[in-house]
Amino acid sequence: MDQNTIELLKQELAATKKKLAEKEALFDSITERTLAGYWIWYIPENTMFISPHLKGMLGYQDSELENSPETINMLMHPSDLPDTYTLLGKHIESNGVVPFEIEVRYKHKNGSIVWVICSGNIVQRDTDGKPMVMIGCHIDNTELKKVEGIQKYMHELERKSLEMEQFAYVASHDLQEPLNTIQGFVNLLNYKLSGNSDSEVMQYLDYINLSSHRMASLIKGLLEYSKIGKETIMTKVNCNDLLEQVKIDLAQLIKDCNATIEVGELPSVMGYDLELRILFQNLITNALKFRGEDTPLIKISCMKNDGYWNFALADNGIGIDPAFKEKIFKLYQRLHPKGEYEGNGLGLAQCHKIIVELHDGKIWVEQNEPKGSIFYFTIPTSI
Ligand code: ADP
Repeated sequence: MDQNTIELLKQELAATKKKLAEKEALFDSITERTLAGYWIWYIPENTMFISPHLKGMLGYQDSELENSPETINMLMHPSDLPDTYTLLGKHIESNGVVPFEIEVRYKHKNGSIVWVICSGNIVQRDTDGKPMVMIGCHIDNTELKKVEGIQKYMHELERKSLEMEQFAYVASHDLQEPLNTIQGFVNLLNYKLSGNSDSEVMQYLDYINLSSHRMASLIKGLLEYSKIGKETIMTKVNCNDLLEQVKIDLAQLIKDCNATIEVGELPSVMGYDLELRILFQNLITNALKFRGEDTPLIKISCMKNDGYWNFALADNGIGIDPAFKEKIFKLYQRLHPKGEYEGNGLGLAQCHKIIVELHDGKIWVEQNEPKGSIFYFTIPTSI
């Protein structure tokens, strides 16, 4: 070979090396950006190259892990090893017809689990067709798994909440019947024993009577609560008209309390008419029930803000300790002893369900100045 040819070959080699280095850099950059790592398995020698990125995926520096199949065996979750090797065997035996792709768990250096989609191909065979080299790729799937886990949890939660609602409906519905019987017999006993001189007996009867009425009110509340949102359709609801009707319904109570209700310009919203009526009714009734010494003044207003109608219902009543501002929206939560104010602790839970579950909004309470509370709730402008 003359000097010229050698020189030419050298140049060609250098150019090929350069191209190879570029391809390698491109490959590395692709694997880095796609959260992928790779391995190259030299089958006859049973040796392996494990890419630094694959090691990094599991929390290790390149130098911390040996380049060998043993490393894979050591770090893969033991329960996933048998399936992986079975599939690998099938892939090799079938000469690549059975694809090698499997989702497995690896142990991260920090003890957590890394979900990996592992796939590979035989890339080189000897003259007899025996596999010589296999290249595999590992894609970190942990984040997706987490999202899947959350979705599963959400579905389970939805299913449980539906189940609970059905249970509450059936239970409260079925409990009404025996309770009616109890109340019927209490009335009968009251009638039979009227004029009885044993005051203790009459007092016991009174207790039973009061308790069964209270139970009836709790059951009725629960039944109403579980019925919310059933068999209703969304319509355009003119809130000013709605409030006019609520004020008519509560006219006697408003008059008895000598209350003033100021209603500002309210919008028409897409919503559930009956439920919005219950919402305003509950909030106004509460504002009147929990009034202070001043004659009640209720102000209802609404503003459009960031895709939502922001409603506010302000009162000048006894106010709510900020420590309980979340608790009051839960079922059966009341801040006062039974005797002090009438109620079953379900009104605000209903409001919460109506706004959050049915109208995709938020509801909360803040202190009014100088006294009282302001209940805020939002309804999207575009549902
Ligand atoms: P209920 O009125 O039947 O007790 P709610 O669920 O409507 O039940 O209200 C829960 C609790 O929140 C009430 O018991 C009361 O302590 C408090 N609360 C609700 N609305 C007001 C209000 N406007 N002012 C002061 N406290 C209130």
